[in-house]
Amino acid sequence: MSKDLSHYIRQIHKLRVNKVGGQAPYQPLLLLSLIELVEQDIVIDNCFAISPELISIFIKYRDRLSNGYYQADLAQPFYHMSKKDDAFWHLEPKPGHEEVLRSGGRLNTLKKLKDNVLYGYFDLELFEILQNRIYRTTLISTIIDQWFPGEFEKVKELLQIHSFEQLRLRLKESGGAIYSVEDVKDELVNEVRDAAFRKNLLILYDQRCTFCKLRIVSMFGENIVDGAHIKPFSKFRDDHYTNGLALCKNHHWAFDRGWFGIDQDYQVIVPHNRFTEEPPEASMSMYNFHGERISLPIQEDAYPSQEALRWHREAWKIV
Ligand SMILES: [Zn+2]
Repeated sequence: MSKDLSHYIRQIHKLRVNKVGGQAPYQPLLLLSLIELVEQDIVIDNCFAISPELISIFIKYRDRLSNGYYQADLAQPFYHMSKKDDAFWHLEPKPGHEEVLRSGGRLNTLKKLKDNVLYGYFDLELFEILQNRIYRTTLISTIIDQWFPGEFEKVKELLQIHSFEQLRLRLKESGGAIYSVEDVKDELVNEVRDAAFRKNLLILYDQRCTFCKLRIVSMFGENIVDGAHIKPFSKFRDDHYTNGLALCKNHHWAFDRGWFGIDQDYQVIVPHNRFTEEPPEASMSMYNFHGERISLPIQEDAYPSQEALRWHREAWKIV
């Protein structure tokens, strides 16, 4: 049977939904989110990573089409939609993790998925169909008619909202936010929040580690530099950029353990009793950075706050 538009319309009608606690159409919600990634040109080849963009779109549809009733994790449909016999959705394992996928180990949490899966992808035929705007609209209507009757206008409106960028820009304008315990209970919301914090910090710091000035960005936009919190997020839930530093993985790890601090003149302090090191070259020694000024954002109002830096020095007894 040829895999044309009508074939995929039939497949959509057959999507499984969770019947526990009423119909919870997580697979249709995921499918809608994946189609939006194509619609907005966020995904241009057939590789759908578990990205903050995907997560924020999924949250948008989950919350707006269910009136807050559904609490689903994205991981469930991302995994289960690939397990049907005639699935049109597939998972590409990370190198060395092929057996985990083949053995049918249930990858039903975000962590398990991210540990084992590089990305998901559609049948080639379906991905080609999705390049056509009219076919896309037909598939979206099929999902809406079947699972969310009467909501087409709402979905059309939601499709125009680039949810991750909108959140990121709002936070950039306001300088960040402090969250309540309730705000960060939802793992998905938390992922998106952290990704927005990181992306804005990386823009402010020109994608460089503020300590060693390293800047490495992959062709896929992956970055070795993190958005690090000065006062830990777990305790303060403070995502203001003034509570952040762009740090490479090594220096993020070291900062979180008090291996160095930053003084009131934005100079590095490396205390002399925390570690020993044998760098291959003297210039790579951490002690070598003692007294160096960190790189700072162009905007002065985004400099790390004196109060946060002092908190970090005092917490780790760095003098
Ligand atoms: Zn670094």
